Amino acid sequence: MIEKINALLPQTQCGQCGFNGCRPYAEAIAAGLADINQCPPSGDEGIAELALLLGVEAKPLNPQFGEHKPKSVAFIIEQDCIGCVKCLVVCPVDAILGAAKWMHTVIAAECTGCELCIAPCPVDCIVMRVLPNQDISKVEKLAHAQHAKQRYDARCTRQTQEAMEKAERVKKQKAALLKMKSV
Ligand code: SF4
Ligand code: SF4
Ligand code: SF4
Repeated sequence: MIEKINALLPQTQCGQCGFNGCRPYAEAIAAGLADINQCPPSGDEGIAELALLLGVEAKPLNPQFGEHKPKSVAFIIEQDCIGCVKCLVVCPVDAILGAAKWMHTVIAAECTGCELCIAPCPVDCIVMRVLPNQDISKVEKLAHAQHAKQRYDARCTRQTQEAMEKAERVKKQKAALLKMKSV
């Protein structure tokens, strides 16, 4: 059931539902710990799909969690970017390209519009741009969500791998230090 619920969520990973990503929200719904109307990017259409899956009545989006907005993507005003990397490290789908002290840019096709990069930017040079075509089919929506999920999962795997490698390096350094002290 968790997977079925997660498959209906937009995979924006924005956290507006009060959970750290779409899957934790799906887990909470399945466990009866969250309501079906807490995901602003899903909007009424997504809530209706969840209601159908769970055999419950649909209800309006709870405004406490935000409002359903038109689909947008982030855009970096490149001449103002100071290359601090703060946006890059928070993007859940690796949609930002850049390096320390270099200009950053958003790969628009990969941006889910989660807005998580906006707040960390110290010079306010990231703006959201509403996409001209809002009329996308259900099949396209599903394909976008699946693609975003793949990128998010890949990022999580990479971060876990990096953390493990770091832990291994620290372990080796400590072992080498102890060896030096004992000589
Ligand atoms: S897209 Fe919806 S379910 Fe996913 S994190 Fe955002 S609010 Fe939560
Ligand atoms: S570029 Fe910004 S708005 Fe787009 S997915 Fe990444 S963090 Fe979210
Ligand atoms: S947070 Fe802002 S200033 Fe820093 S790299 Fe990103 S766009 Fe540039």
